[in-house]
Amino acid sequence: MSEVETPVLIVGGSLVGLSAGVFLGARGVPCLVAERHPGTAIHPRAALVNQRTMETYRAIGLEQAIEEAAAREFVQNGAILSVESLAGKELDYYFRNINEGVEALSPSKRIFITQIGLEPVLLAEAKRLGVDVQHSREVVSLEQDADGVTAVVRSRDSGDEQRVRARYVIGADGPRSPTRERLGIGTLGHGSFSDSITIYFRADVMPLLGDRNLSVIYVFNPNLVGFFRFSIDGQAGFLVVNATIDQYGNRSVAVGEDMSEETCIEYCRLALGAPDLPIEIENVQRWSSMADWAERFSEGRVLLAGDSVHVMPPTGGFGGNTGVQDAYDLAWKLAAVLDGTAGPGLLDTYDTERRPVGSFTVEQAYTRYVLRLDPSLGKENLMPIVDEATVELGYRQLSDSVQVEDGDERALWEDPREPTARPGMRAPHLPVDRNGTSSSLLDLFGDGFVLLAGEGSSGWEEAAGRLDVPVTTYRAGTDFRDDSGRFAELYGVGDGGATLVRPDGFVTWRTQGRPESEGEALADALAAALARE
Ligand SMILES: Cc1cc2nc3c(=O)[nH]c(=O)nc-3n(C[C@H](O)[C@H](O)[C@H](O)COP(=O)(O)OP(=O)(O)OC[C@H]3O[C@@H](n4cnc5c(N)ncnc54)[C@H](O)[C@@H]3O)c2cc1C
Repeated sequence: MSEVETPVLIVGGSLVGLSAGVFLGARGVPCLVAERHPGTAIHPRAALVNQRTMETYRAIGLEQAIEEAAAREFVQNGAILSVESLAGKELDYYFRNINEGVEALSPSKRIFITQIGLEPVLLAEAKRLGVDVQHSREVVSLEQDADGVTAVVRSRDSGDEQRVRARYVIGADGPRSPTRERLGIGTLGHGSFSDSITIYFRADVMPLLGDRNLSVIYVFNPNLVGFFRFSIDGQAGFLVVNATIDQYGNRSVAVGEDMSEETCIEYCRLALGAPDLPIEIENVQRWSSMADWAERFSEGRVLLAGDSVHVMPPTGGFGGNTGVQDAYDLAWKLAAVLDGTAGPGLLDTYDTERRPVGSFTVEQAYTRYVLRLDPSLGKENLMPIVDEATVELGYRQLSDSVQVEDGDERALWEDPREPTARPGMRAPHLPVDRNGTSSSLLDLFGDGFVLLAGEGSSGWEEAAGRLDVPVTTYRAGTDFRDDSGRFAELYGVGDGGATLVRPDGFVTWRTQGRPESEGEALADALAAALARE
């Protein structure tokens, strides 16, 4: 059996595996992605890409390419609403347009692009960055020891096997994650609550849409519960059916038991409110609506990301986004451990920081599912809904490496409309002027550690220059101008103070005022942020 070596092996090359590949590639970490399927996604699935996810792609220069691909698939910024049927009564608008009220929170917009549209952009970028993406290749075994992980990867075409020796493995192998199973990691949560189907069909729905720009259309009618999305030309779409209701009002979530063409056409006509519309069924997929997260997100040198560690119903459009954000967190940590700037303990913070985000997001998706689609699951013990922007931009990542301040009650999320920039929070967006060009403060983050220093400070740049890890210092008023004058208050940084932002754009430490020694304060903060012994 032939053998290759790679710093990082990624098991699974769909949305999260490919994102992990580009994030690592952008940080100069070579990696190998093994994907069982012969190519990128053939089913649309995720479409709502949220602001935080777009910020991560923006940080590696991919935002524009993704926006362009998105514009080819959908008229952007549509509404999310519920209806009795597409032709019938509108019940409620969740969003008049998907960016309503969140424009000021980020330089990035929420966009709509399916995995069919997004994954090829990620694949092309991965290849450009030198990531070795191998299709039709399945990881059939994994064994880890003190120095690395040995995997056997089998070609699905020829059956040939190759041994891959990696320092670390990312398991991005989806909801049934063979990698998680191999590690014996169980799941917690609500389990499976609907045997749902997605019906891909062709039909001329344009006359039913009229001049409405609709991104997601929930359907609550006397016969079924689910949701629609349509293609840009109004000639195709899919209908998810989560539950059916019979003539006596009995509800069934065993939808997948009948996927006959006749039944699927009937479901589409009922949900469209068009009893005679010609409909061609292209494909029907059966899947389980679940709301679970893994007991652990890592085991030794194997780190799990995406649906392998959190599966949630599509209500909210959080699933794929949370996975991409796992990958973004993992990428800088792996890069820092592999190049020796961080201690190996930094990788333990992946589980500590991302698992609470995962379980919180799963609960948010589950609450939305129960309230919107299936109240019969029971409204007791639901986590109260926090708004989408909070789920997307307001989650907090806390671990020993983050220097929580005295008196901080360690809340796990906050409203991003009132950001605090406390350690553990995403460093908030602020429009700034740099050398006469308007940009976002967020555009300073992404490459390495960044120190944002107060306007009247003087010693930070020199202190940063004495460190053995690059920390780029920007002084308010000099290196960026904030016409609104909000920087000091927004970031909690007085004249002599500073905020240390990690390569993933999260605040890890800050000081309001000038410390006794900038050099010592910064060196201590950096050592903690990098889990150095
Ligand atoms: C109808 C629907 C709508 C959705 N809408 C949204 C939305 O709007 N926004 C959102 O964020 N999310 C949404 N989601 C969720 C989203 O699709 C998933 O969260 C996302 O696809 C997870 O990506 P992943 O890469 O973690 O897993 P997957 O997409 O499941 O990919 C795992 C990959 O691993 C590969 N693999 C498995 N085992 C091996 C092995 N041993 N060797 C090699 N490869 C292997 C598989 O072939 C697969 O390609 C939706 C889901 C559905 C069903």
